[in-house]
Amino acid sequence: SINAPCPLMRDDLGRASWSLLHTMAAYYPNEPKKEEQQSMKQFINSFSKLFPCPECRTDFQEEMIKSPPDVSSCIGLSTWMCEQHNIVNKKLGKPEFDCKRVLERWKDGPTDGSCD
Ligand code: FAD
Repeated sequence: SINAPCPLMRDDLGRASWSLLHTMAAYYPNEPKKEEQQSMKQFINSFSKLFPCPECRTDFQEEMIKSPPDVSSCIGLSTWMCEQHNIVNKKLGKPEFDCKRVLERWKDGPTDGSCD
């Protein structure tokens, strides 16, 4: 938290980073221009090289080779990001997230209207 006596540790940094990544995916265009697709590819590529957790970024880079980012659309990118997060969840023994609900979590809010 902002009041923590030490610099950001891995869990805080991870949570904050996933928030940024999923939100960027959720607000990515449905029909991105070539230039937007290029920028997103570059962003994710740079992120995977510079994220300040060596173990995290090594694994993330390997996963990106197996499954390159889907920058073709909002839903494609949101689903890809969700799958990447699930790979890390699995590695850490955390529950899997249902990727059909990724936009509900990061953009639209619950369908029961509890956030309206
Ligand atoms: P987080 O995993 O940070 O999730 C935050 C919120 O996202 C959850 O509360 C949930 O609402 C939502 N969420 C959960 N899963 C998904 C999903 N699949 N799709 C969409 N939303 C979801 N930590 C390590 O210890 N080792 C690592 O190797 C490692 N690698 C990482 C790689 C990357 C690229 C990033 C960004 C983080 C990595 N982390 C790693 C950090 C780790 O993933 C968590 O962020 C950290 O452990 C804190 O977990 P948390 O339980 O607070 O929730």
